[in-house]
Amino acid sequence: MEKISVQLSKNLKSKPTDQKNLGFGRYYTDHMFIMNYDEGEGWHNPRIVPYGPIALDPAAMCLHYGQEVFEGLKAYRADDGRILLFRPEKNMARLNVSNERLCIPQIDEEFCVEAIKALVNVDKDWIPTEEGTSLYIRPFIFAVDPHVGVHPAKHLLFVVILSPVGAYYPEGLNPVNIVVETKYVRAVKGGMGFAKTAGNYAASLKAQDEAEKIGFTQVLWLDGLHRKYIEEVGTMNIFFVIGDEIVTPALQGSVLSGITRMSTIELLRSKGYTVNERLISIDEVYEASQNGTLKEVFGTGTAAVISPVGQLLWDDKRMIINDGKIGTISQMVYDTITGIQWGKITDTFGWSTEV
Ligand SMILES: *Cc1c(COP(=O)(O)O)cnc(C)c1O
Repeated sequence: MEKISVQLSKNLKSKPTDQKNLGFGRYYTDHMFIMNYDEGEGWHNPRIVPYGPIALDPAAMCLHYGQEVFEGLKAYRADDGRILLFRPEKNMARLNVSNERLCIPQIDEEFCVEAIKALVNVDKDWIPTEEGTSLYIRPFIFAVDPHVGVHPAKHLLFVVILSPVGAYYPEGLNPVNIVVETKYVRAVKGGMGFAKTAGNYAASLKAQDEAEKIGFTQVLWLDGLHRKYIEEVGTMNIFFVIGDEIVTPALQGSVLSGITRMSTIELLRSKGYTVNERLISIDEVYEASQNGTLKEVFGTGTAAVISPVGQLLWDDKRMIINDGKIGTISQMVYDTITGIQWGKITDTFGWSTEV
């Protein structure tokens, strides 16, 4: 690949001063990374430029047919000043899996990790330092051919933007209430549920909106065919502690392969827990909650790392999990993964990469 050119902003923004109220996705840094794809040339012209609007032809294909993929990861500021990324090579590998499904040309994974590091380095003063805060990194690719016709694009942009984000749990880990979705489906096998692509999220908005109206924060998706087997939650994978077994739905094409999910499985197995990736029906979870063997339920994802579930509502059946409190396994996974991410504990897995 070519060398990344850097054009620094002459107009630096003022940074948010209240790190306790950063929220999520509200502020963006001074620079962004851009690279073009044009048929015949491949990916080229990698550059770091001042953050700002991107001009698009109104016929740009991404606006009409949703040929887009994205990723999400974070940069963390360790107490000793180091800047750490958590398994960024896994994000770039997954981006190529999404690319393949969406007929988007493959990226050079190693180069893109270097591009992310270079951008984070340029805007490193934006990484917040307050406990629990981080710099969210959003790489994405979209089709820009000015052509209202359904076919794979020949011209695309790869862009990376950065956003300082607040602590997900400023008051400690709060269990969330989740409603089991029985009307809508998110994805089916053969579709694109395993890809991180815009359309999947557009498909989820209606269910999310209806869940919020009845006081729930997220929905738990069931499989699209039998409406029976558990898939995942909004932007999180899901785990169930039933007796001595920890279960998470197997990846069979309609579930997103989370990097936090993968890390949680590796961590739990290294500690001697039995973790099975298999089919798990909502009936099995309900039965376990009735007979007292359902001990913990938690979601995993980059934003919150671990999200304990305090309550599941399935039609008229209400399951209260662990008295609505966080369980010991959820807490241990949270403490260990965040400890590694912020460089507070030794990373025996080799998950952290320094910028
Ligand atoms: C991103 C995402 C996840 C979590 O993946 P991580 O790599 O752990 O952040 C889970 N489900 C969906 C639908 C997602 O988009």
